[in-house]
Amino acid sequence: MAYILNEKISGLEPYETIQGDFRIRLDANESFIEIPESTKNEMLEGIAELSLNRYPDPRARRVCSLFASYYNVDPDCVSAFNGSDELLFLISTCFLMKGEKAVFLAPDFSMYRFYSELGEARTAIMQKNSDASFTAEDVISFVNAERARLLIFSNPCNPTGVGIERQEVIKIIEGCPDCLVAVDEAYMEFWDQSVIDLVCNYDNLMVLKTCSKAFRMAGIRCGFCVANKTLTDALLAVKSPYNVNSMTQTAAAAILSHPGELDAAIAHIKSSAASLKQELSDMAAQFPDKLSVRDTCANFSVIEMPGDSAKRMYEALKKEGILVRCFGSFLRVTAGSDEENAEFIRAFENNLF
Ligand SMILES: *Cc1c(COP(=O)(O)O)cnc(C)c1O
Repeated sequence: MAYILNEKISGLEPYETIQGDFRIRLDANESFIEIPESTKNEMLEGIAELSLNRYPDPRARRVCSLFASYYNVDPDCVSAFNGSDELLFLISTCFLMKGEKAVFLAPDFSMYRFYSELGEARTAIMQKNSDASFTAEDVISFVNAERARLLIFSNPCNPTGVGIERQEVIKIIEGCPDCLVAVDEAYMEFWDQSVIDLVCNYDNLMVLKTCSKAFRMAGIRCGFCVANKTLTDALLAVKSPYNVNSMTQTAAAAILSHPGELDAAIAHIKSSAASLKQELSDMAAQFPDKLSVRDTCANFSVIEMPGDSAKRMYEALKKEGILVRCFGSFLRVTAGSDEENAEFIRAFENNLF
């Protein structure tokens, strides 16, 4: 007799980032901007004062209320998680009954499908058009034909960078009344089509937010859900009681206490993303048979390259200590500092030939 792992987990491998010394990391859509020293000190002082022998506030009230005031939403509609990854896991496991179906779009953030499959949900995947666009009508008929109970998609989308407008998202929410619609707005600080203000108008809308991108707290692990009171209370009821530790609550609260700093960092990232895209577009205009650049509305650029040249470019950059992401014939490049972008552009252009 021997214990054997079940088949849904036996083939899985632990999540690992690429090991090695990389001078420039433009692979994970993190912010290239560090937290200002004064705010970091506030954060550390706050942590020093914590009674770490005590459990944290299960409701994470202070950080939720700071988040709520930044977005001008009702704090009772906000709940906090250990990164939005924890939230995704909870949604895909707790908001579906056995046998119910979730719909995802492809390409989209791969974790949606991963967590749902771990939770043994039935899933159906709607393929987007070849330019990564899709319409509300496509989604509505797909969701309704599948009788899906859960739809999760990112807007703007990671990894395509394509966004759909607020009016289209509203159509989806209204066109799928029996389905929970979870809109992952991880990159919406870089665009302006959020539906976060609408959560109380609908019984089937959740907006997922992370502190890992625009808010430059990827290392802190904090994410939020914004939804009506019924959905929020359901999430609070199913989450593990002390999901967000007190150091994270304190650190995130210190950072969210400085909305002016957040706005400045977002503006800086947006301008870096715009100039990276511009330089790549100029290069694409010069060498149209070698690359084309997608119109993205997030903090990364998406480059399409013919044949296997994206893969070869990825490897060549990696050899030079520059890390980006490669998805088939696409490269996804996070906007970095001016120096990082310049270094990336130089290496990219050198390796084009
Ligand atoms: C980065 C990212 C997240 C963030 O996950 P965290 O666990 O909060 O770091 C969520 N959704 C999408 C689409 C992302 O790209």
